[in-house]
Amino acid sequence: MHEFTAEVESLAQEILAYSLDRLKNDPPLDGPRTAEDLFSEVGNTITGRGLGGHRALEILTSVLAKACISTDHPRNLAFIPSAPSEYANLFDLVVGASALYGGSWQEGAGAVFAENQALRWLSDLAGLPATAGGVFVQGGTIGNLSALVVARAQARKEHRATGRWVIACSQESHSSIASAANVMDVDLLKVPVGSDGKLWGSAVAAAIDHLHATTQNRVFAVVATSGTTNLGIIDDLKGVGSAARERNIWFHVDGAYGLAALCAPSVRDKFDGIEIADSFIVDPHKWLFAPYDACALIYREPELARAVHSQHASYLDTLKDDQWSPSDYAINLTRRTRGLPFWFSLAAHGTDAYTEAMEHTITVAQAAADLIRAHPDLELVVEPELSIVAFTRTGWQMKDYQNWSDALLTDQIGFIPPSSHQGQTILRFAIVNPWTKISDIEIILRRL
Ligand SMILES: *Cc1c(COP(=O)(O)O)cnc(C)c1O
Repeated sequence: MHEFTAEVESLAQEILAYSLDRLKNDPPLDGPRTAEDLFSEVGNTITGRGLGGHRALEILTSVLAKACISTDHPRNLAFIPSAPSEYANLFDLVVGASALYGGSWQEGAGAVFAENQALRWLSDLAGLPATAGGVFVQGGTIGNLSALVVARAQARKEHRATGRWVIACSQESHSSIASAANVMDVDLLKVPVGSDGKLWGSAVAAAIDHLHATTQNRVFAVVATSGTTNLGIIDDLKGVGSAARERNIWFHVDGAYGLAALCAPSVRDKFDGIEIADSFIVDPHKWLFAPYDACALIYREPELARAVHSQHASYLDTLKDDQWSPSDYAINLTRRTRGLPFWFSLAAHGTDAYTEAMEHTITVAQAAADLIRAHPDLELVVEPELSIVAFTRTGWQMKDYQNWSDALLTDQIGFIPPSSHQGQTILRFAIVNPWTKISDIEIILRRL
């Protein structure tokens, strides 16, 4: 059946050689080009007779791949970049070659078993009960939405709201929470943060009580962030979680970036309170050394999620038994076993290696903060809590930051786009890559 001709064999060698080269050497940063520009170089690649594998691969490696910024370059500190381990990246080749179906236990038992052990590690780090569980979904956006849909279903069982359903979160919460609210047609209650940028339990309690006392609207979920994408700030999980619990409201923790550091003893106590979450997310594709795309979504009581997210159809109902099918725990049916590259790397290296790599990135972030403190023209926006270091340059306007950032990429030194905080333009380093050295930070700071 398989037509593994000499032609396919040689293409396989080429693909492996390219992939290995990409893994062995620091990739160039590269950068975007316009569609017109790319078209003028490669033309229309979709043709009746096909280009052949070698030519199509060559178009990718020589032109298209070079028009993509390498997110794993050690001086790409933009947004939240990525830093997959070699093992995780290599294993993605296995996942790709295996045609695994990750939606149901029946079809993917072995793979789902492995994914579930990786989820268990995260759930145990958070201190959730042994009965907790979940699924790897595409990203934090889908993870947050899936959890919030379950939270609303729970609230509907208990309250016949006459007004609007509401999610309480902070002004600093990720844009995906607003996106979820939009998809769900619910409102947001944006609770003010303290002067330290954190969402505090007392503020959440006051805001919810005021809303419930003065309107018919009801809060069905409280979302805390640990830590925020822009500044890496961790909300008061214990206080916020307690405020939610006391009011019998679902407590969700968005830890897409920061909860990865649950495995780092030096910062573990910053996450106190995570153990009372009803659900949480963390993206292994951000700070847990896994390739795109993987978000771990974990529920304290997964059967609540299953009751909401299971899809029913005549051709699916043969699957409905007591087996654990990942499709049942989020807004997804067919899914790739996207947790497997993370699982493989974790299983192969052991969790100690994760702790070590995590502590290392935190140390580099602290050293970067020290350099900024010592710099005559730079000022930290906040003391870094995890591995995001945000700062300003005295005397600079928005266009100065933009010009500096553009030149940094043009010169292929680094990728640090400006961000903003309270209306002020800032720069930020998001350090998630164990290969980012303090000398890389020095190279960037020399340009400031
Ligand atoms: C990145 C991020 C998200 C969204 O995750 P995606 O994987 O990009 O969908 C949500 N919340 C926080 C705090 C994030 O940093």
